[in-house]
Amino acid sequence: MKKHTLRIAALSLTLPLLLAGCGTIETAPPSASGSPHPQAWTYSGPTGPKNWGDISTTCSTGTAQSPIELTRSMLNAADTGAPEVHYQATAFEVENNGHTIEAIPENETKNYVVLDGEKYYLQQFHLHTTSEHTIDGTRADLELHLVNKTTSGKVAVLAVLFNSGQANKTLANLFKEMPDQVTGEEEADPVSGTINPATLLPTGSKVIRYEGSLTTPPCSEGVRWNVYETTGQISAEQLSAFEKLYPRNARPLQKLNDRTATEIPTP
Ligand SMILES: [Zn+2]
Repeated sequence: MKKHTLRIAALSLTLPLLLAGCGTIETAPPSASGSPHPQAWTYSGPTGPKNWGDISTTCSTGTAQSPIELTRSMLNAADTGAPEVHYQATAFEVENNGHTIEAIPENETKNYVVLDGEKYYLQQFHLHTTSEHTIDGTRADLELHLVNKTTSGKVAVLAVLFNSGQANKTLANLFKEMPDQVTGEEEADPVSGTINPATLLPTGSKVIRYEGSLTTPPCSEGVRWNVYETTGQISAEQLSAFEKLYPRNARPLQKLNDRTATEIPTP
């Protein structure tokens, strides 16, 4: 997948560490075995979240880390507008990067969101199980992260929590076609049909916005989180198809410290 590789190379010049977007790019060189994605970090054991600071100190010393526990009591009235979503039906490729399943749009400027007048382009979306954020103490079965970035490198993530229920039509082909082996960027396969990421966002949902970090190494801060309060649904079969590959790839909750969050009403 040449386009993706070129994009990463170009962006790497300006922002080497912020690109991982909750789990896309390893900072370690390829291993001697030639594995395209050396798993320098994991979700359990000696290379698990407690020791991610060994890979990137921000993971252990950062003061605005994600995910966090979101509660009604911490919410202030919105002081900024809702994310203005400009997503449309797009061809995607799917990659198993050793930490999650990631879908990458073949056209990287086709989908964007506008926050405070600035365009953030969709780079990729990926999945975590269980959810990483909790809302009012409740943890969902799965969390979707749509990672968007400005041309200057600022990151905004739209996050949607999902529980078991009805099958998700938008993700139907993706769940069927997830590679069960770790793949390199070059091996990313096209997903059948198109995906309109807008249909992954719960309609009529309020959004909780706060400033946090990537939830995977290098845990870079300055990420603008937009977590939808309404949960979506996926079928038990879809959930189990993902859990077979990644039984648990969720970072534990991080300290809130002196942060606040705002609740943005439905647009
Ligand atoms: Zn993520």
